[in-house]
Amino acid sequence: MQEIIHYSLHFLAPGLLSYIFFREQFLKAWAIMLLTMLMDIDHLLATPVFDPHRCSIGFHPLHSFWAIGIYLLMFIWRPLRIPATGFLFHIFTDFQDCLWIFSKCATCFKESELYLVFGSWF
Ligand SMILES: [Zn+2]
Repeated sequence: MQEIIHYSLHFLAPGLLSYIFFREQFLKAWAIMLLTMLMDIDHLLATPVFDPHRCSIGFHPLHSFWAIGIYLLMFIWRPLRIPATGFLFHIFTDFQDCLWIFSKCATCFKESELYLVFGSWF
């Protein structure tokens, strides 16, 4: 179930976002947003490459808080708005995953980068 939601958010939702916000260049926008999935290439730097209990936000370089800040800046500048939307939506999708992981594993939250930033809120 988690996988179905995750991959439909990663593939289909960008199509929907493209249709709603970039309709005059819908297919191009969708393609660009799908290309932003390549940001997951930073997982290859991690050991292990895939860890079902790891929240990627704040952990991987292209998912770091610095990177998210850059995506927000990109969003302000119109020529970069489509890829920025793709990056930010990717972060949103991965965030859903983190919440899913944390709901089943309290220590995963305590060990995540999100806890370092937001832990005091809970
Ligand atoms: Zn990711």
